[in-house]
Amino acid sequence: MQYKPGFIGLGNMGEPMAENILKKFGELVVFNRTRARCEAIAAMGAEVAESAGGLAGKCDLIFLSLPGPKEVTAVVAGPDGLLEHSHPGQIIVDFSTVAPLDSRNMAEAAEKKGVTYIDVPVSGGGVGAAKGALTLMIGAAEEEIRDAGLLPYLETVGNTFHYMNGRGHGSAIKIINNYMSFTAQVINGEALLMADHLGISMDDFYKVTTTSSGNNMILGAKMNKVKTGDLKPGFVIDLVMKDLELARQLCQDCQISNFTLNTGIQFYRLAQQLGYGQCDSSGVIKVIRELEPAHND
Ligand code: NAD
Repeated sequence: MQYKPGFIGLGNMGEPMAENILKKFGELVVFNRTRARCEAIAAMGAEVAESAGGLAGKCDLIFLSLPGPKEVTAVVAGPDGLLEHSHPGQIIVDFSTVAPLDSRNMAEAAEKKGVTYIDVPVSGGGVGAAKGALTLMIGAAEEEIRDAGLLPYLETVGNTFHYMNGRGHGSAIKIINNYMSFTAQVINGEALLMADHLGISMDDFYKVTTTSSGNNMILGAKMNKVKTGDLKPGFVIDLVMKDLELARQLCQDCQISNFTLNTGIQFYRLAQQLGYGQCDSSGVIKVIRELEPAHND
């Protein structure tokens, strides 16, 4: 099954994903709020639409990689959005990280127009996106994806697929995953602060912890950035806060406590207040270490 594909949201994740889809299928219509972000992919042969609605009129398989719930709701269900210009049989695959309830609301609104909406949030960062090696958390059953002919498209952006068998479950597990990852990063920052004060070099800290039981994925993934002081995103702290706030809302909805989540939120909030909102998530480690700098003299 060959679809006419479109892609909305050409940011740190969306741009490399869209480029891979264009390279494999030879055609792609794109739209981004900041038009300048379309230039590179237009030079590769993509057609640039004037609006989300304009893109909907041209495509039957539409991928989204947008910051969060507000943008997804506006692009899908807002004025001049996808559903206003949709046609039955269209499919929307949403790679953005949103709340499960947002995904279910979008799926319901789409269904009324004969359109299929599937939450497919991703993990693996810009590097994974560029390599087409993302992990996909799919809010659908494997048969639905196979029967709709979506596999060749998803295989262009990812290589690890988790079928979560129901709308919103992709989004739910993604938020749980990011809660784990970003609070682990706060622990990594506090551990590094301890090492600083105990006279252990950063090289020794990473050598031991990445090969011992304290290891976690984000520790190794951000090691070079922390060592070199590179704050270029990556995944910005403003988006971390969006995901942690979504996690907090999930806990509230389920009426469960989560002490670690609330502590993690305070650190990233502080990093935002200190001006690191558009820096890589690992900027929180810099903030933690600078709160109590070691005196080595
Ligand atoms: P980003 O901010 O770099 O990209 C978002 C893009 O969407 C931007 O180019 C922006 O101009 C565009 N946009 C915003 N509102 C729009 C609108 N109304 N219409 C059209 N375009 C609009 O974000 P990102 O880092 O690429 O992340 C995208 C999504 O993927 C987020 O939901 C994020 O949580 C998730 N995610 C990011 C990473 C990562 O490492 N960056 C990893 C996994 C998941």
